[in-house]
Amino acid sequence: MSDDVLSVIPTDPHWQPEEAAALRAEALVTELVGGLAPDTDVEIDVDWYDLPSVVDSAQNLERIGCPRCRASIDLDWWADLVEDNEEGFPTLDATVPCCGVTVSLDQLDFDGPCGFARFEIAAWNPELIRFSEEELAALGAALGHPVRQIRAHV
Ligand SMILES: [Zn+2]
Repeated sequence: MSDDVLSVIPTDPHWQPEEAAALRAEALVTELVGGLAPDTDVEIDVDWYDLPSVVDSAQNLERIGCPRCRASIDLDWWADLVEDNEEGFPTLDATVPCCGVTVSLDQLDFDGPCGFARFEIAAWNPELIRFSEEELAALGAALGHPVRQIRAHV
């Protein structure tokens, strides 16, 4: 069985909210995905990470482009990197295999988008595909920091 996960993360990979703001944002995510009706598979997970952790689009990830030379980066390189940093990334700097420059991992051109975060609200199997720009703005206001969304198929 597979799941769709729609995650909301701060745009800054290092930023974490206050507890009260996190609760406000969680409540808003819950409302926007249609609540936790007993007859749905919707679940909301809130996660705090000590180090920036990857929020992976998983099976939705088809290509990673290098921000410097535009080449496609080997997906095995990415899979190994994720596996080596399951406890989070002490640094987001990495040397890309294509042209050998050091870039910040959150600058890689992920398709579908992946992100890095120390805080994540994940809605499992929501009814909606993605949040609108207005909904993201409202979530950012609730959290106290701009947010982006990552859609994963796992
Ligand atoms: Zn490159």
